[in-house]
Amino acid sequence: MPVLTRDLIQSAGDDFISQQLPEFHGACYPMETSGSTGKPVRIIATDFTRLFYDALMLREHDWHRRDFTKKLLSIRWARRGFAEPPLGHQQSTWGPPINQYHATGSSIFINVASETHKQIDALLLHSPHYLLSYPSQLAALAEYCLDNNICMPFLEEIRTTGESLRDDYAQSIRLAWPQTRLTDVYSSVEIGNIAQQCPEHNHYHVNQENVLLEIVDEHNQPCETGKPGRVLVTSLMNYATPLIRYELGDYAEWGNPCQCGRNLPVIKKIHGRKRNRLVLPNGESLFPYLGEREDRNKITTAVRKFQFIQHTPHDIEYKIIVSQPLSPEQENQLRQLHQKNLGYPFNITITYVDHLPLNHAGKYEEFVSLVNMNHSRT
Ligand SMILES: [Zn+2]
Repeated sequence: MPVLTRDLIQSAGDDFISQQLPEFHGACYPMETSGSTGKPVRIIATDFTRLFYDALMLREHDWHRRDFTKKLLSIRWARRGFAEPPLGHQQSTWGPPINQYHATGSSIFINVASETHKQIDALLLHSPHYLLSYPSQLAALAEYCLDNNICMPFLEEIRTTGESLRDDYAQSIRLAWPQTRLTDVYSSVEIGNIAQQCPEHNHYHVNQENVLLEIVDEHNQPCETGKPGRVLVTSLMNYATPLIRYELGDYAEWGNPCQCGRNLPVIKKIHGRKRNRLVLPNGESLFPYLGEREDRNKITTAVRKFQFIQHTPHDIEYKIIVSQPLSPEQENQLRQLHQKNLGYPFNITITYVDHLPLNHAGKYEEFVSLVNMNHSRT
């Protein structure tokens, strides 16, 4: 079977939607991917697929033994003006599917597209036991807490979702909240929960009952354990939108079988999205090393937030928000540091900005490549 791409689904339009579903699959619900990697993809879910989405979500809670009577705060995407911090949108339960099966405590929803210090105010105001958000956003909150000596002893667990949990993000989160458990879920709009962290290890177990997951190389051949490759998914429960060998755009690598007793396949690491990969002038792509905060701080502590945009295989724009202007010497030192980190003497242009945009999914991306990477597609 050929690899199914986003472009193919988009160009097929309604031809891609099944017209004759088994009756027991129930009603249909159109859903759209966020379009964070381009044009959104339209997927039809059914009552049957939703049952599996919910079951896998509940299994994830069960593995990690969450106490539903405690308070949950989630910081996620919402339309402008809704769920603004510090109050946010307050609900008496955790919402579906959990409240359909369990009595739950209250939950608070906070709009991710709000200022970091206001989100901190929300956390201090509501003192939740559980916090759920995107890794990049949690890393930004963690850095704010570290910079301002803010402690949150009430936080028992932080759950990350929606984008890959990079090592540097995890490091910041663990540094800011050392007493708090950190758990990641690998999910997508198209499939729901794809894999979740083993409660006993850092790696992930694939929800094989719902999805057939492959990791393939540039020739669409299976990758061996430990070799990163592109993730292809086949949805086993969605007959309305047949996703077969669908390329999600993520990279991941297989791990060895787990000792925990769960026989579901193990993903050792999820590397993230293609558009967040650095393209080298020779056409190779890799996950960019963006350096350590401490190294940057040795040159200047004025950089509050940054984003790299790769415009061509040789040219990278370094957008920064600063608390005070940099000297030409500091600019030069920063350029050299990033050339070293990125492993190539790119032309790095520094641009001063007042704010950095979130993508369509409400996520903040530290590195975006605009260089066409179609060479890795089939
Ligand atoms: Zn395990």
